[in-house]
Amino acid sequence: SFAYFDWIAHHAEVRPERIAVVDLASSRKISYRAMDERVDRLAAHLAALGVGRGDRVAVLALNAVETLEVQFACFRLGAIFVPLNVRLTVHELSYIVGDAAPRVLAHDDELAPMAKELKAACSVPHLLAFGAAYEAALAASPRLGASEPVTLDDVSTIMYTSGTTGKPKGAMITHGMTFINAVNLGIPAFISQRTVFLCVLPLFHTGGLNCYTNPVLHAGGTTLLMRAFDPGAALSIIGDPSVGLTHFFGVPSIYQFMCQHPAFAATDLSRLQIAGVGGAPMPVPLLKIWQERGCALVQGYGMTETSPAVLMLDADDAARKAGSAGKPVLHADLKIVGPDGDPVKPGEMGELWVKGPNITPGYWNRPDANRTSFTDGWLHTGDAARVDDEGFYYIVDRTKDMYISGGENVYPAEVEDVLYQLPEIAEAAVIGAPDPQWGETGVAVVALKPGQELSEAKLLAHCRERLARFKCPQRVSFVEALPRNATGKVHKPTLRERILVRET
Ligand code: AMP
Ligand code: MG
Repeated sequence: SFAYFDWIAHHAEVRPERIAVVDLASSRKISYRAMDERVDRLAAHLAALGVGRGDRVAVLALNAVETLEVQFACFRLGAIFVPLNVRLTVHELSYIVGDAAPRVLAHDDELAPMAKELKAACSVPHLLAFGAAYEAALAASPRLGASEPVTLDDVSTIMYTSGTTGKPKGAMITHGMTFINAVNLGIPAFISQRTVFLCVLPLFHTGGLNCYTNPVLHAGGTTLLMRAFDPGAALSIIGDPSVGLTHFFGVPSIYQFMCQHPAFAATDLSRLQIAGVGGAPMPVPLLKIWQERGCALVQGYGMTETSPAVLMLDADDAARKAGSAGKPVLHADLKIVGPDGDPVKPGEMGELWVKGPNITPGYWNRPDANRTSFTDGWLHTGDAARVDDEGFYYIVDRTKDMYISGGENVYPAEVEDVLYQLPEIAEAAVIGAPDPQWGETGVAVVALKPGQELSEAKLLAHCRERLARFKCPQRVSFVEALPRNATGKVHKPTLRERILVRET
């Protein structure tokens, strides 16, 4: 197998003064030369803490350049980078940290209390705090010596996603997958050493890390890193001629919040070459608002498990084919199958399956999920798609029980497990309801045991203690009983019809 080539070391040699990352919160500009040296010292420091090949290093932080440095230090050592979702509760994170068993947990200042709790709960050997302690560690570290080459088949990253069984699964991402994604996304998005990209999505999701941060760093371009999304700040950077921003990426809610901002109307969007959108269904009326401003958002479709790019709409087709997620990326195989696993007839809807060098080799510690998620190397996406007569794909539905709220996936099974902890509840089901800001938000449908009482407020408080905010239902509908099919399973389509259609 091919060796992994260290992009940062390469650009440090070829374009040392080029800015790799601008950390907007601290106004730091880090050149490729500086980043290469910092990554090297960090790798040496991690090695001194006992991190070797295959060992995990987790990061709990809002967007900061240090997170990317940890990523590249892990890449250099053949260690595995595990970014953690800061929106989760300690309870949710301790399952993930327990599963990944990192040797080091790096974190920013703001999240120090949570990191300490996780260290204690999961016996993490070392914490590494960003800021003064981190800088001191870099200053005291030698440069890393030569180490064993890392191959493209080696796992570089584990990203946790939830699942229909309720427990998060760590999708293993290889160096090869990340490299292939840089090609698959980079070519149609015109990413090059001249790219100036604003990253507003969190680096702990594939959307922030790989759309387009890693492809931009792979190409030798510049990434401006926003600590957390702020619509006014994003618009002012997009419109500022002295920044010269060329690329932007967001989930649909990001574009929704920006177009509602008072500064939207007066912002000059004309310098943007590519504004990509993906991660959740994109409403066509929202696409049109941006299109009318001369900015045709380029839709893409993908998953954590697929690096993520699978489909991408060519910029030239973005307006004409508004609503399509595009055509297959260069290095990926796709098919749309029926319930029997055989391809459907042209134009028919079926489940999208994907195979190729952009696909995860599987989930960390999860032989069960590895058996059920693949057929002959084809990954079952759980998304329903169809292709029009020009070969454009449309993502029309999901076959998996999931909804997406502001770009964050919610698996009802996980929320239902939490609801069933309440002794008053006889039956509970969670469905996603359309929401103009977030795309979808959760509705809990609950039947109480005879003679029991439970207020909506008490139910929601119980959820908030145990679940990340984005997973908590927005409201509760109390019913006599849930509709079930012949095998006794809750029939969600009927439920959705009863609860949602009745309301509109
Ligand atoms: P994640 O692993 O968090 O990136 O979530 C992947 C899921 O997001 C996919 O399986 C889809 O259900 C959804 N998704 C991603 N992109 C799109 C899109 N363009 N349109 C509709 N759903 C999407
Ligand atoms: Mg997503």
